This record gives sequence, C-alpha cells and structure tokens, in this order.
Amino acid sequence: IPVRGVNGARVAVLGLGRSGLSAARALRAGGAEVLPWDDNEAARAAAEAEGFAPADLTRAGALEGAAALILSPGIPHLYPAPNPVVAAAWAAGVPVDNDIGLFFRSFATEAWESFDSPPKVIAVTGSNGKSTTAALIHHVLAASGRDSQLAGNIGRGVLDIDPPGEGGAVVLELSSYQTELARALTPDIAVFTNLSADHLDRHGGLGGYFAAKRRLFAEGGPDRAVIGVDEDEGRFLANQMAEGPGDDRVIRVSAEAKLAGPGWSVFARKGFLAEWRKGRQVASIDLRGVPGLPGAHNHQNACAAYAAARCLGIGPREIERAFNDFAGLPHRSQLVAEAGGVRFVNDSKATNAASAARALAAFPRIRWICGGLEKEGGLGALTPHFGHVAKAYVIGREAAGFALHLRDLPHELCTTMAAAVARAAEEAEAGEVVLLAPAAASFDQYDNFEKRGEDFIAEVARVLQR
Ligand code: ADP
Repeated sequence: IPVRGVNGARVAVLGLGRSGLSAARALRAGGAEVLPWDDNEAARAAAEAEGFAPADLTRAGALEGAAALILSPGIPHLYPAPNPVVAAAWAAGVPVDNDIGLFFRSFATEAWESFDSPPKVIAVTGSNGKSTTAALIHHVLAASGRDSQLAGNIGRGVLDIDPPGEGGAVVLELSSYQTELARALTPDIAVFTNLSADHLDRHGGLGGYFAAKRRLFAEGGPDRAVIGVDEDEGRFLANQMAEGPGDDRVIRVSAEAKLAGPGWSVFARKGFLAEWRKGRQVASIDLRGVPGLPGAHNHQNACAAYAAARCLGIGPREIERAFNDFAGLPHRSQLVAEAGGVRFVNDSKATNAASAARALAAFPRIRWICGGLEKEGGLGALTPHFGHVAKAYVIGREAAGFALHLRDLPHELCTTMAAAVARAAEEAEAGEVVLLAPAAASFDQYDNFEKRGEDFIAEVARVLQR
C-alpha cells in the first residue's frame, strides 16, 4: 500500500525489522525520500539490499527537514528512558508515527467510493488472546466468502497487504506498542479482549499500558466496540463508550458472567456461547468439543470473534460452522504429540503469568515446563493453579531464580529444553499433559517464542523416537 500525502517529503524510519522495512517500501512507493536507520548492521544491510541508503539518525541534525519519524514497535520511545532519536524529533517538532498510523491514512482506495459495501477494518487489542481472536475473525470472514486480510502484530506488516475488494475486510492485531504511537487509529470495529499486567516497563506501569490500548476506543472512535468486561478496565471502557444502557454500539463480552442487561452481549458459560440483546437470548453455540478452541480462555476469544462477525452481518449458524473448522494457531495450546496416554502441548506463547495461568487451568494434571526471562508483575496469577501441577521442570538461564517463585511446588532445575522434555516425558504418567507454558519471555535462550516452541516440538519428537 503506497503511503498517501508523502510525495516529495523526507521521512525518517528508525528500526528496520519487518514493520520498518515494509514502512520504508510503502513510503518510497508513495514518493517519499526515505531516511532509514537501524543500530544493527545486518538490518541496515537488508535495507541496502533493497536499494535504500541508510542515514545515521543518531547524528545531530539528522532529522532536519524530516516530515515525520516512523518508529518500529520494538524500540522503547519513552520508558524506561526516552530514545535519543525520538527525543531529537520532539525537540525539532518532527511528528513521531508508526506503520499503523500510515496504514490508516492510506489504505482506502478511490475504487472504494463506488462500492456498495466498502471494506471494513477490524482491530483487535488486549493483553492475551489477540492473535487467536484476530485469526478467528479472519477465518470466519474468509469462510463466509469475504475477501479478508490478516495483518499487524500477527506476522504480516499492515502496509504489505493487498487492499481488499468490495465487501472485504482487514483484520489487524495491534499490540500496545503499536496503538500507543499511531497518529491515525480509526478502525470500523475495535475489539478489546482483556487486560493483565504485561510490558509494564515499556509503558511506565499498568496505567500507561491501559492508556496505550484505550487509544483504539477514543472519542468519535469505532462504529462498534467489542469489549471484554471480565476486568475493571474493560467494564470502565465499555461504560465510557456507551451512550446509555441500551446502546448497541458496545458489545460486552465475558467468559465468566451472564450478561443479560438491556444492551448487546456475548458470553460463555459452562461451555456454551450465548448472544443476548435487549434482555433476551437470540442465539447460542455449543463450544464444547470445538477442536481449535479448547479451554475457557479460548471461549473468551470465541465470544469476541463471534461479536465482531455479528457486527459484520454474519449469522450465528455460519459462525458456528466456521468455528468448527478453525485449526487453532501454532504455539497456543497446540497438541503436538500423544504417546502412552500422555499428551504433549506447546503453549510457548504463554509469555506472561496471566496466559500461563489459563494454560494451567485447562488441564487437570500437568508436567509443567516453565521459566525463561522473567517479566515484571510476578507470578501470583499462577499459584491458584499449582494444584494441577504434578511437577515443574524449569528452563532458562536463570532457572534457579525463576524456581524461587514456585514455592513448595515439586520442581527440578533443567535449564535446557532438551533436559526438561526428557525428564518430564520420563516421569509423566498416562492421563497427564506435558505442557510448555513458560510464563516468561524467551529471549534469554531463543530469538522468539516461535523458536522456543519449535525446540519443544523437536525435543518431544526426539524423546518419542527413543
Ligand atoms: P496474544 O496475541 O494477545 O499474545 P494469543 O492468542 O497469541 O494472544 O495467546 C497467547 C497466550 O495467551 C496463549 O498461549 C494462551 O495460553 C493464552 N490466551 C489465549 N487467549 C487468552 C485469553 N482470552 N485470556 C487469557 N489467556 C489467553
């Protein structure tokens, strides 16, 4: 997607990973003179290979004459300390934006003006369940024959998509880093899954983290807001958005409570999804046994996706059919093998305590592989589920430090994935689940959570071959 309104302008791009490079390309396609920079030499080389000339943005005066600074989500701009290039932009009055802001300015094409139903943008944010919910919405839309594109935090740069045609949709997964900086943020439907402590160092605490996500729901914001109300923050947000008790611009979603109020709601209880409107149930879906959506946390994701699909006019039975052939996402409650009555489940994406707690809650008896780079916020959310854990097998460079949080839970310091999988498989009994749900980031030992999950899968295969 070529960026609009930048023809002839100088635009600086800091951070040349996937989103930075795609922003650089889209800016060039829009006629901008791109000043790309990354501290990492290999990243600069990748940009050079595409014909960009790196411009050292850390030099004094480097931003002179720049119309904007486009920042990658991986670069901390404000906390724990301002990034020097960003601080220079502030001093020079250069606006700081990101690829998401450029996308919202640029994606609507002239062709849309002649469409009866122009494409819609659905943006999904929240602490956990974003990828699953976004992928599920995309899947439901595609299954109903719509031209749907999935992008954002989930893997494809937003500026790399092909603009959808008549009646189509763009489903975006947005992290707090992305929502915080985007200067344009105007989805038709905004979805908020839930909120728990994560990334606090980057946002100066929970308030800053919530504020970053809330930007999707600003005044005059989306036509429809789907909001998970199982925490105070979600209840507050829904209340702030709604004009009154029966306002169906807001759809409240819960995985815990029966929401039978005067408005529009979708909730899951005892394995059933229910849609209520104006105090009456209008539809229900049996989620038990839907293979791609195991566990209460996935029922929350299903409710949010259902609500978004309903906003787009898709019928309950059509959504139900699509749910039943949703394959799920790798590294999220992914069943990778079963042998001798023991199941091996890869939930490498459980990088924080809240998501790992959901994984622990989903299985009755667990050999738990955990540990890695510790996150702020502690592991308190996990302790209520320790009753499900037969034993923990701790990985990570600081395994001993991590194990201090496990209190009297039986555990073994394994450090490596190979040792942890071997020991857990050796000790597991029929009916148990060997679960990778680290409750920690992967960067002490891996490039990312995907690599960690792949290592788990490889080690499981190796152990089962013996
Ligand atoms: P995100 O994209 O927000 O990180 P994912 O869909 O990738 O979310 O899921 C991340 C992890 O969080 C999964 O491994 C799963 O264990 C857990 N999870 C998924 N959905 C939810 C939810 N609605 N609430 C809490 N935890 C969840």
